[in-house]
Amino acid sequence: MANENTVPGSDVPIAIRFAEPSQESLAVRPPAETPPVVPTDVDADVPSKTFSSSDGANFFFLQAARHLGVNSEVVELLKNPWRELHVEIPVHTEDGHLRVYSGFRVQHSGARGPYKGGVRFHPLADLDEVRALAALMTWKTSIVDIPFGGAKGGVQIDPRSIPTSELQQVTRGYLENIAHLLGVYRDVAAPDMGTDAQTMAWMMDAYGKRYGYAPGIVTGKPIAMGGSYGRTEATGRGVSLVVRDTLETMGRDPAKTRVAIQGFGNVGSYSAKYLRELGCPIVAISDLRGGIHDADGLDIDAVIEHVARTGSVVEMPGADPLPADDTGDTDGTQVSPGLLGVDCDVLIPAALGEVINASNWQIVQAPIIIEAANHPVTPYADYQLTKQGTVIVPDIVANAGGVLVSYFEWTQNIQQHRWSLEQVNSELERMLCDAYTNVRKLAHDEGVAVRTAAFIVGVERVVEALELRGLVPANGAYHKD
Ligand code: NAD
Repeated sequence: MANENTVPGSDVPIAIRFAEPSQESLAVRPPAETPPVVPTDVDADVPSKTFSSSDGANFFFLQAARHLGVNSEVVELLKNPWRELHVEIPVHTEDGHLRVYSGFRVQHSGARGPYKGGVRFHPLADLDEVRALAALMTWKTSIVDIPFGGAKGGVQIDPRSIPTSELQQVTRGYLENIAHLLGVYRDVAAPDMGTDAQTMAWMMDAYGKRYGYAPGIVTGKPIAMGGSYGRTEATGRGVSLVVRDTLETMGRDPAKTRVAIQGFGNVGSYSAKYLRELGCPIVAISDLRGGIHDADGLDIDAVIEHVARTGSVVEMPGADPLPADDTGDTDGTQVSPGLLGVDCDVLIPAALGEVINASNWQIVQAPIIIEAANHPVTPYADYQLTKQGTVIVPDIVANAGGVLVSYFEWTQNIQQHRWSLEQVNSELERMLCDAYTNVRKLAHDEGVAVRTAAFIVGVERVVEALELRGLVPANGAYHKD
């Protein structure tokens, strides 16, 4: 089904090909009823400019817990991870040396089901960041109402800097060190930055050697190993659904909504592809090496081809170069605008965490930020931007499409039955859009920011599970006054 959007700069209508192969159009959903609101809670505590990653994630949790009146003993339980493991991974390099990498697995809460969370391979992955990401998974799985808790893993490594044989050794070594924590009904891993379907296949194989065939211990696997149709593109697809519903509720025309995307890996590239199909001109994209800009909208298929050929978006023919993003170290004065400062309507950070922070929040021009990456906006920047009226859709809603399809993959592995792509995509749309509508409605009813509302939904369900398990004080999970 075609819609009325046109290719920017022409009047050629473009058909939305979003839900292949079902051809279900993005335009057919009725507008959601509740628009994001400018919240009234912005004068609550001003967050610190220098929070650690886990303190930052906990700031939002504590705001929600306070709003709900959660008992301080329960708050204490949920502020800290349930379990964390630090492992050393020795690897024999091709030139005869022994290199040792550090890895982590953090399980934040299993109140609602098996721990669930990706594994990040990045030189700067540290325990505090993994802790923050694990907690965000607890709230995210709760918001989209799937029977999982929250976890995260990380290995301090640049996966592009070592030969594939060594990367496989690191992956297997990491898995063997954390395998006793994993299990189809205990803890289920997935890809994140620097890991992919191949990494998951190695993990599944290493686990299977010790415990027998168990495809459900990882999601994001290759289709040939029990993966799900639609998982690779699920996070970007979900991001574009969230953008679509946000624009609908704000009465904005996608064809007149200019989008800038930081990061062009799995999440950034699929977000760009689907948003272009929705009709949005993508005016800027960046990656680790730099950025590109075209005020009339970039040709996304051509950018994808260019990246496949060269490994980066930089030097894309016909596009203007953008300087690499610089998060700065002073109060905004030394900050190079890069992609984050581009004149656009929707800014989508889809790379690292904390890229919009106390030093550079002033350069953001976009009135809407959709958090495709995990914790890309620090609490201080969130506070300032929200106060000035910027609508921010938080990571725990905006990128939840990935964990939703991971849940479908896990379900299929348990059922030993494969769903069609059409079924995956329609369930993804139903569950993600329902969860987002629920969060927007709460934000509207309570007069709070979308992020605060999302945390309230997530925290309330986790507390209910703790209550049912008997893990709250005798006088209940909430203050009586
Ligand atoms: P990826 O490794 O596939 O891609 C990361 C991209 O970010 C690359 O294009 C890289 O060049 C770019 N990048 C890195 N540093 C940058 C910088 N300083 N400036 C600009 N670009 C930079 O990773 P991904 O899977 O796409 O994940 C991206 C983000 O989305 C992460 O925060 C991740 O936690 C989050 N996320 C991913 C998934 C998923 O399913 N993969 C699900 C939920 C959330």
